Amino acid sequence: MKAHDAMYTGGRWRPSVSTETIAVVNPADERIIAEVPAGNAEDVDAAVRAAREAFPAWAATPQARRAALLGAVRDALAARQDEIAETVTAELGAPPGFARAVHAALPVAVAGSYAELAAGYSFEERIGNSTVLLEPVGVVGAITPWNYPLHQVVAKAAPALAAGCTVVLKPAENTPLTAQLFAEAVDEAGVPAGVFNLVTGLGPVAGAALAAHPDVDLVSFTGSTAVGRRIGAIAGGAVKRVALELGGKSANVILPGADLARAVREGVANVMSNSGQTCSAWTRMLVHRDRYEEAVELAKEAVAAYPPGERIGPVVSARQWERVRGYIDKGVAEGARLVAGGPEAPRDRGYYVSPTVFADVTPEMTIAQEEIFGPVVALLPYEDTEDALRIANGTVYGLGGAVWAADDAQAVAFARRMDTGQVHINGGRFNPLAPFGGYKQSGVGRELGPHGLAEYLQTKSLQF
Ligand code: NAD
Repeated sequence: MKAHDAMYTGGRWRPSVSTETIAVVNPADERIIAEVPAGNAEDVDAAVRAAREAFPAWAATPQARRAALLGAVRDALAARQDEIAETVTAELGAPPGFARAVHAALPVAVAGSYAELAAGYSFEERIGNSTVLLEPVGVVGAITPWNYPLHQVVAKAAPALAAGCTVVLKPAENTPLTAQLFAEAVDEAGVPAGVFNLVTGLGPVAGAALAAHPDVDLVSFTGSTAVGRRIGAIAGGAVKRVALELGGKSANVILPGADLARAVREGVANVMSNSGQTCSAWTRMLVHRDRYEEAVELAKEAVAAYPPGERIGPVVSARQWERVRGYIDKGVAEGARLVAGGPEAPRDRGYYVSPTVFADVTPEMTIAQEEIFGPVVALLPYEDTEDALRIANGTVYGLGGAVWAADDAQAVAFARRMDTGQVHINGGRFNPLAPFGGYKQSGVGRELGPHGLAEYLQTKSLQF
């Protein structure tokens, strides 16, 4: 697989200071497909210096020009969609159809949305005798995970650039190749040198150096709650801005009167998508006691449509495979009823996990509280609406969710009481312009659309 043996800093691919490398593994067959440099603190420092140097001119660039350049990035991504899809399939294991439809297409849509927003956004407002200027925060340190490798990069870099910030990206070590493709697109689009910079490397080395760098004004992190907590503490110590998109344990609440068959089928599909590696996946399905067994049967039928290696790919790494397997074992040990899938046989080739359904899951079980990040659905029965609400809100997380009811008004009434950042009403579609982010320990800040752009701005008020 094509890979750059270099960092993209100051508008050029340059040899890294570090001589260490990271091997990129295809999770479908466990073969090494490429090597990229594992940057160190000096590599990060060089990238931050390039971003700092580029900042004043980029911040002063007319918004129409920034918008045009983001439009060119969008076009460069669109022209590379096949290569992007193939790369995501190779480094993440995503099935080709899903890689094209989501991993390659969504970043084009998001980059396009920021080209439009950058053109039309009002960077000035009037309040009484004041003019409020919305100014870019400065140099952004972006740290991204592997599960939607290009989407996560674009969801940070595009709004940051639209706002007038410059960026240093440290992508996940498992999926650096799509990040390199993004740097190619930025370069081809003619974005000025230093506005976007890429340093590949390990989290505790390059990621930690970026989060702690004194010349980074805002750290935008997506990943696990454990690492997010650490980054939040570092940012707090330095009094710098921080945005955290963390884990989830989202509830799919099926109220009495809902179309049960559709709600279960779409609920299972939501979890199976991306092999269960979606932070906002509806991993807890809540069903009224009266129709619970019916739902269990429907869920069992629904997962049968996801043979590993066909409609769902492997999980990303041996570590994730062990982790998911550990949770499945724990579900069985704590007394949940295994309806489909289950403990894996010793691994053959590829990090595949059988789609798994657990019934009789109680709210305090580990598999109802902790994020599994694999193709595992937990069905929990509830007695009445208040009970459903208690269960839905009864985790430390609050990222996504779904409510199904006889009509939208009933579903919305329930959704208003959910402690979560995003709720799909009766199967409502994903909207790439709607704010995305967490309540409670699912994070701080919002991504996508105008709310995502606002994260990268700070306000200055002029009194007249
Ligand atoms: P992770 O936290 O291990 O890694 C995320 C990123 O942080 C990677 O780039 C990694 O190299 C870096 N990192 C690791 N240790 C670091 C450190 N000490 N200092 C600085 N950076 C460090 O998470 P992951 O395994 O890559 O991703 C899975 C997790 O991400 C899941 O928990 C998932 O829910 C979460 N996630 C959340 C969202 C969201 O939008 N809320 C989206 C995707 C993934």
